[in-house]
Amino acid sequence: MRKVILILSDALRYDVAVANMGFLGHLVESKLASLYKIVGELPSMSRPMYETVHTGVPSSVHGIVANSIVRRSKMPNVFQSSKDAGKVTAAAAYYWVSELYNSAPYNRIDDKETDNDSLSIQHGRFYTEDEYPDVELFASAAHLIRKYSPDYLLLHPMGMDYHGETFGSDSKEYRNHAIRQDMWLAPLIQEWMERDYTILVTGDHGINKDGAHGGTTSEQRDVPLFCIQPNVKGRGDTGQIISQLQVAPTILKLLDVPIPDTMKQKPLFLD
Ligand SMILES: [Zn+2]
Repeated sequence: MRKVILILSDALRYDVAVANMGFLGHLVESKLASLYKIVGELPSMSRPMYETVHTGVPSSVHGIVANSIVRRSKMPNVFQSSKDAGKVTAAAAYYWVSELYNSAPYNRIDDKETDNDSLSIQHGRFYTEDEYPDVELFASAAHLIRKYSPDYLLLHPMGMDYHGETFGSDSKEYRNHAIRQDMWLAPLIQEWMERDYTILVTGDHGINKDGAHGGTTSEQRDVPLFCIQPNVKGRGDTGQIISQLQVAPTILKLLDVPIPDTMKQKPLFLD
């Protein structure tokens, strides 16, 4: 049984992550991590993909087919299944995640900081502004790890999406932000590996030169999956393409939580 941190970097393109995230690249190069490519599910929109990543089912099944659908998840999901199995759950994430797994609509005051064992996300730190600084969010996540040692933590920064939508993906601002995220994450990943966490780094969707996503092109849907397991040899760049629907069952398998029947895809073989 392992503890898991999922870093879901909003709008982190596969090619930009591989080209600009040098610490993650080092872990891949030295076989301390495995790298896969995910051809993301559709539509390549945020709220639908948050739900897809956490339920392991496509948008037509979970029903969150647009960002405008504001309700709790109706499907078995990573947070609920983990909590039901007695695990401790946490998230430092955009408020749509609170709406999907804790309560909707979001209350900016009551829901921003949550420590409640009865909720699916027991320890939550949420934000509502797209330009909320990633480095501050990373500190919130790091604090939750130190204070509560959650079995599962979601870290969900918006910086790539914000810079991509503002300047387009073919911009120094978007690319440089990938470098910054990698730089901020490097010491945290070191600490979390020492705390025996398995760390997964991926995106919900990509983004195109126009600063848009939602469509079917590879720039809008291809995201990386870096898998870092302490004390387990990584496979480097596997060259493999995997399904985004494998993320949820992979997390549950690592946590030793029963995988719900609704999650049809096989978990990744990580050990
Ligand atoms: Zn997004």
